[in-house]
Amino acid sequence: MGRQGRIIGKPGRLPTIAAMRILIANDDGYLAPGLAALVEAMRGLGEIDVFAPEQNASGTSNALTLGRPLSVFRASGPAQAGFHVVNGTPSDCVHIALTGVLGQRPDLVVSGINQGANMGDDTLYSGTVAAAMEGYLFGLPSIAFSQVQAGWQHLDAAARLARSVVQQLLAQPLPAEPYLLNINIPNRADADTLPRRVTRLGRRHASEPVVRQTSPRGDPIYWIGPAGDAREAGPGTDFHAAASGQVSITPLQVDLTDHASAPRWRGLFEPAPR
Ligand code: MN
Repeated sequence: MGRQGRIIGKPGRLPTIAAMRILIANDDGYLAPGLAALVEAMRGLGEIDVFAPEQNASGTSNALTLGRPLSVFRASGPAQAGFHVVNGTPSDCVHIALTGVLGQRPDLVVSGINQGANMGDDTLYSGTVAAAMEGYLFGLPSIAFSQVQAGWQHLDAAARLARSVVQQLLAQPLPAEPYLLNINIPNRADADTLPRRVTRLGRRHASEPVVRQTSPRGDPIYWIGPAGDAREAGPGTDFHAAASGQVSITPLQVDLTDHASAPRWRGLFEPAPR
């Protein structure tokens, strides 16, 4: 097991080396090339379990399926053999894996490799980030991987980058606290050797307008428009790193509290008693 191994034992007992267990999920669906590439990239780093949505579930954020039961089947395709396929969302996949379907608790959750960037405000809508966030909410170190451009160009290099990052993390002592990393990888043949920058999320402009069409029955139908261009994309942001040919690594947290504005709201809603 080498450095991936972890010593388990009680005082006075001989320790045993146990393999890392890595849970892998995505949001593009179990047939996506990015998932197969990530699974291959993790081979040999630990015991691997894959839970992935049956359908492409991009943009489903942290949705959980509560109104119907979920089914799980094992895939048999050459690149998907043994994958657990769930007829639900990315968060469903990780949630049911961690709450009973998977026999053992994993040590690490990785998600992706997504087809397209998850930077700035995208992270709020991303199923890729949500799958990792579900692991993080359950107290596990979790990482979301995305390629900056859609189309899977240089996916092999992105997979090498993912492996290198995970190897680097596994060589560290086990963390006392879980972490959530959002990693965006430029589509380049040298992605695994590019500089890595720890970034903050940038911001996008509001989305492009909705696209109105007419259905074959004559009713108006609407397509959600594409994401807006980057608005805050200066140095230090994920957008800036990716545009500069760097791998963007953004540590995320889940607390959405606006601490800075809390005093103003206290002044309005909590007036001092007279
Ligand atoms: Mn996706």
